[in-house]
Amino acid sequence: MNSSAELRQAFLDYFAQQDHTLVPSSPLVPGNDPTLLFTNAGMVQFKDTFLGREKRPYSRAASSQLCVRAGGKHNDLENVGYTARHHTFFEMLGNFSFGDYFKREAINYAWNFLTQVLHLPPERLWVTVYTEDDEAADIWLKELKVDPTRFSRCGEKDNFWSMGDTGPCGPCSEIFYDHGPEIPGGPPGSENAEADRYVEIWNLVFMQFNRDASGQLSPLPRPSVDTGMGLERLAAVVQGVHSNYEIDLFRNLIRAAAEATGCKDQNSKSLRVIADHIRSAAFLIADGVTPGNEGRGYVQRRIIRRAIRHGYQLGQQQPFFYQLVAPLVAEMGSAYPQLAGKQDYIERVLRTEEERFADTLELGLRLFDDLVAQARGGQIPGEAVFKLYDTYGFPADLTADLARERGLTLDLAGFDAEMTRQKERARAASQFGGAAMDRIELEGKTDFTGYEGTDDQGTLVALYRD
Ligand code: ATP
Ligand code: MG
Ligand code: MG
Ligand code: MG
Repeated sequence: MNSSAELRQAFLDYFAQQDHTLVPSSPLVPGNDPTLLFTNAGMVQFKDTFLGREKRPYSRAASSQLCVRAGGKHNDLENVGYTARHHTFFEMLGNFSFGDYFKREAINYAWNFLTQVLHLPPERLWVTVYTEDDEAADIWLKELKVDPTRFSRCGEKDNFWSMGDTGPCGPCSEIFYDHGPEIPGGPPGSENAEADRYVEIWNLVFMQFNRDASGQLSPLPRPSVDTGMGLERLAAVVQGVHSNYEIDLFRNLIRAAAEATGCKDQNSKSLRVIADHIRSAAFLIADGVTPGNEGRGYVQRRIIRRAIRHGYQLGQQQPFFYQLVAPLVAEMGSAYPQLAGKQDYIERVLRTEEERFADTLELGLRLFDDLVAQARGGQIPGEAVFKLYDTYGFPADLTADLARERGLTLDLAGFDAEMTRQKERARAASQFGGAAMDRIELEGKTDFTGYEGTDDQGTLVALYRD
């Protein structure tokens, strides 16, 4: 038992045996939450159940949820190609308790599944709990006798979870796998924890409190559990490889990407990016998100154009990305028939976008090369980034990706200023006061603009407010 498909099934079977109702993955565009860009965790479809607003005929559930983290609060787009463990699209295995079991059972189930069902050696695992969560610490250390030298307490940033500024929240406990001393990186909480040696595989969230508007925490009458484990990370562990991109499913996609682009080097970073992006692009199209200039459609466009640019870099100047839909269907179509059923349509949408971008890609890349030659202080000027965006269809994050490969950064403040100027021009030119050119309103609650901005750490994000 170690293919991705077998692991997914083993997880679901295990929790079915523990009286969990198996619930299919919900769509990538959340139906119940207009404030969320894409479904980014297994709990999304159960949000109202956790809040007590929706009753379900079961109090324990398990799922394998399709997730996209390519914009909004959890954005891993910039990590793809740079870490061994992040994707824009992945499957999150999860078990859930709606006021049924709590910490003791959740911890026991997780530990048993990893060490008894999958036979992972406990000495390769590392556990964290929230600093103040003595209850969870006791279960791990006293009841399960986990090695205290492979155990740590972490602060709020990593080990306290909340749904929003108010509402259910609580401590979490995470399980990491140690890929071994030959991989750089330190244990959770250490300085070098972000490297890929200790990889977080499973997050157990204990929803225990309600936070009110004044920030006060009060205990929930029926505490709940929400867990999430990345299937691809688990597959890497079980298959004995140190990167998600070396698991069965990705090996096949990378081979297909190598064929489609004519690339000879199976370890090329560009192939990993392409293999990652075909999954998010294709599954998003299957769920109705086509490339466009705003909102979700623009995130989709950013993903596809990044992939096309990487293909071009490998020497493929013809449409190729759409050819990866068939190998993806071969890998995932039987678990997710919604993908297989739309193969032709997905290919057509991708091919159209490839043809559209082909007109400006080469010219834009030439302009970019000139800019590199002129770059001062290691930065590409904001006006140039804007020109690439506006005239050549280069989303700013695509330009940032190009720049990063050459050790350069973008003047994003300058880019934002150009963007604002363009909006003002458009507003002035419009007799309607220039309302909705690049902005959408989702059910009146959310607006996210169609281009990227910077967050407080200066990384690119799709602008998105709730
Ligand atoms: P990391 O710290 O590695 O970025 P995370 O803390 O952001 O992970 P969670 O939000 O806790 O992740 O999600 C639950 C689980 O989903 C993680 O433990 C991991 O196994 C998996 N996961 C999260 N993000 C990704 C991703 N971008 N690609 C693949 N798997 C992921
Ligand atoms: Mg993360
Ligand atoms: Mg984490
Ligand atoms: Mg986590």
